[in-house]
Amino acid sequence: MHIVVVGGGVVGVTTAWELNRRGHQVTVIERHDVAGNETSKGNAAQRSYGVVYPWADPSMVFKALPWLFKQDGPLKLRMPPSVEAVKFMFATLRYAWSPGLFGLNRRAMLRLGIHSRERFLKLEQELDLEFDGDHKGLLHLASTPEALEGYRDVHNLLTELGIPSRLLSPEQVREVEPGMVGGGPLYGALSYDTDGTGDCHLFSRALANACEEKGVEFRYNVEVDNLIAGEHRVDAVALRNADGEREILKADAFVISAGCWSPTLVRPIGLDLPIYPIKGYSITVPLKNQEHAPFSTIHDDNYKVVSTRLGDRLRATGFVELADFNRDIPEARIATIRKSVESRYPGCADLDAAETWTGFRPMTPDGPAIIGQGPRENLYLNTGHGTFGWTLSAGSADVIARVIDGETSPVNLDAFRPGRFQE
Ligand SMILES: Cc1cc2nc3c(=O)[nH]c(=O)nc-3n(C[C@H](O)[C@H](O)[C@H](O)COP(=O)(O)OP(=O)(O)OC[C@H]3O[C@@H](n4cnc5c(N)ncnc54)[C@H](O)[C@@H]3O)c2cc1C
Repeated sequence: MHIVVVGGGVVGVTTAWELNRRGHQVTVIERHDVAGNETSKGNAAQRSYGVVYPWADPSMVFKALPWLFKQDGPLKLRMPPSVEAVKFMFATLRYAWSPGLFGLNRRAMLRLGIHSRERFLKLEQELDLEFDGDHKGLLHLASTPEALEGYRDVHNLLTELGIPSRLLSPEQVREVEPGMVGGGPLYGALSYDTDGTGDCHLFSRALANACEEKGVEFRYNVEVDNLIAGEHRVDAVALRNADGEREILKADAFVISAGCWSPTLVRPIGLDLPIYPIKGYSITVPLKNQEHAPFSTIHDDNYKVVSTRLGDRLRATGFVELADFNRDIPEARIATIRKSVESRYPGCADLDAAETWTGFRPMTPDGPAIIGQGPRENLYLNTGHGTFGWTLSAGSADVIARVIDGETSPVNLDAFRPGRFQE
């Protein structure tokens, strides 16, 4: 089959790779001039298979409210909020308060996480891609006794699902992370032993190159304006290049992996995808003192900032902000991220010289991504991966490729079904 994938972020590129492996002819349409240049560019770099959880977390609803009013608080809401932001928040509350839903969705996402880890390991065996990738584990620090207590439940759930994790004392944390010489509060940590890291942007570009070598066509600087669909099938996509030239591209099947921009493509054919762009920020900086840098990746629950080692660089990321598609980078946000890094890894890098970035998590109001067949027989979706698209990309790509080929998915896809927001 000739299959068009709309979007060349990490999800579109991994999807293209899996479809090509299965013998399909694949064309990827990407409006940027390289792959992985939107949300997949400057993310926290964690392949956190054991951490994945739904956005609509009932335990967060009351905890999160005071964060809105704290200078360094991780949650931000642009005032006055837009209609879209308010609608998204209400939808989130509805899902958070649906009895039992969080637990079901969390298990579904963790199972996809386990599958994604397997697919990444396979892919990395097959291809020698350079993306500063590793699987050296991940630490969630506990800066309060209550945080450590909360990690016990997570540890039990992971054990039940066969995902290795350990609760560490502060002394053990310092052994695992000898560079963490700062004096931030520390009561212990949960170690996700088999989780990993990697530069998602480098990976997307390297995998796109590997795809091209295998015959996948990447059409860069080309935007899909709309789908051309009949009652039962999508016939083509209407394209426009940087010079404004238009073209109709026909194919046998279509996959939408356009991240935050997916809803506008499918709304005209009757599918409502309530994906909202949840903004975050990152800094990336060369390390000047490698011994005092993170060994792998740590989540500092004191500031809710993630610091990740990427070879000889440090990436630190934070904030969950509802500001629609606003791309400003206020100095106050970057200052909080710097403060977190300095409190744990003082002197590891010249943080004032860091490259800054902002991007939008393609978030669904319940949390699971949107994976499966759409409202036409040859239309498929692999999008809405929110906070965990890098982590889940390899698994979701394999799953959607199997769905397209009419095979049974190794992961139950109920939680991810595209039509769930209209039920
Ligand atoms: C601050 C922050 C930290 C994060 N940290 C992590 C992390 O540590 N681990 C993790 O797993 N995830 C993390 N994420 C989430 C992760 O980055 C995303 O889930 C993932 O990048 C989404 O990939 P995607 O391919 O779906 O979307 P994108 O990367 O946004 O790709 C979509 C692509 O589609 C293209 N496109 C859109 N519309 C069109 C069109 N009409 N025509 C042509 N092209 C189009 C866009 O240009 C874009 O390149 C983080 C996100 C943020 C913002």
